Amino acid sequence: MKYPIVKPFLPSVNNYTAQIAVVFERNWLTNNGPCLQKLEQQLTEYFNVEHLLLVANGTLALQVAFAALNINTNKKNSVLTTPFSFAATASSLCFAGITPEFIDIDPTTYNININNASDEQLNRASAILGVHVFGNPCDVNAIEKVAKQHNLKVIYDAAHAFASNINDENEIKSILHCGDAATLSLHATKLFHSVEGGAIIFKHKSDYLKAKQLINFGFNDQQYPELVGINAKMSEVHAAMGLSVFEQIDYITTQRCALAARYCELLSPIKQLQLQQWHPQGANNGAYMPVVFESQNVLLKVQAALSNAGVQTRRYFYPSLSQVAAYGMQGATPIANSLSERILCLPMYTDLTLNGVDEICQQVIAALNSIN
Ligand SMILES: *Cc1c(COP(=O)(O)O)cnc(C)c1O
Repeated sequence: MKYPIVKPFLPSVNNYTAQIAVVFERNWLTNNGPCLQKLEQQLTEYFNVEHLLLVANGTLALQVAFAALNINTNKKNSVLTTPFSFAATASSLCFAGITPEFIDIDPTTYNININNASDEQLNRASAILGVHVFGNPCDVNAIEKVAKQHNLKVIYDAAHAFASNINDENEIKSILHCGDAATLSLHATKLFHSVEGGAIIFKHKSDYLKAKQLINFGFNDQQYPELVGINAKMSEVHAAMGLSVFEQIDYITTQRCALAARYCELLSPIKQLQLQQWHPQGANNGAYMPVVFESQNVLLKVQAALSNAGVQTRRYFYPSLSQVAAYGMQGATPIANSLSERILCLPMYTDLTLNGVDEICQQVIAALNSIN
């Protein structure tokens, strides 16, 4: 394919080799090593947060967050979440023995609309798990209000929301400040990555300290297994990749914002498709480029035409998680089900060029015009 759907960002091999040479010299390969500590410090400063913990991947970040906030042991064993996300959002709940209760989304932002939750659903739940889908911040004020009224914890799966900010009373801040915990995925295909990796940002220091124990088998300072933990540690080899990629984070974010702006400029006049409506206090972080068609039939035709033209696309996210038998299918979500059938992601990666975006958009428009 001339244009793949994603392409992992690679630093220069010399830069990474230099980082790894230091790891070899130290022969300290994992367990809270110097590369990990340095990356934690850099990310903490970048997001201007207080309690950030690096972990092995974004799925473990979710599972450790549930355990740190006692959601997996709560008598109320369900969590209100969105059906419009990657599988890991729902599977991480099920894997921890928690029932996902699917709440329908807003048809324009594609994020959970917490006002769709019924009283019964709210009464059964111990927490809300929102997803800032494609990096678009959730309606965090509405979620916080409902959470306060019903005494619910709030977790955000922020896997797409690296470098996603909102303007909060004239202060631009990372969306990772919102919720009792927010989780990142640092997987190779994400905006910023460490090959495999994840992070959890906690509001409260006590939850952070508990999670720090949980990711290392539950050991306390005396190496005594005080809690039932897991192994979710990030290795030095992964942290070193994170350090190398982070050196270019400004280039990555600037480039992706420019690509997203060009896509939106060229595609917003096209009547046969719809673009995601972004949070009014935020700006597109260029993590993904979703477009929505009138019907699944149109989507399949456009996808086939693009494939023939060397443009790879992906049906993110299909099917709706509320229609997956393994996840329990709790909750009716007609808006998400319809969106899932009609949404397609176009190529988006740091090495894509503005000329590439122009060509892809021409192909999309030509495909739409050839239908009927
Ligand atoms: C990528 C992703 C995850 C999982 O992250 P991994 O690091 O691959 O485990 C979770 N949630 C969402 C929304 C994602 O896109």
